[in-house]
Amino acid sequence: MQFHLSEKFCPRCRKPLSDAIIEPHPTRTDVAFHNYECVDCGPVMTTVVSLLAEKLVQAA
Ligand SMILES: [Zn+2]
Repeated sequence: MQFHLSEKFCPRCRKPLSDAIIEPHPTRTDVAFHNYECVDCGPVMTTVVSLLAEKLVQAA
């Protein structure tokens, strides 16, 4: 079972967005873009996530 802590919804049609498409940052290795797409509206939201934080969690 998969559980998403912060479920995203489309700002236009309010449908739940599918899993983010992860893109590497063009110049930094410690962050990445998460692109969310709506099945009806296409790409509607982009967030920046820290990859360092995830590594710290995994190491703990
Ligand atoms: Zn939508």
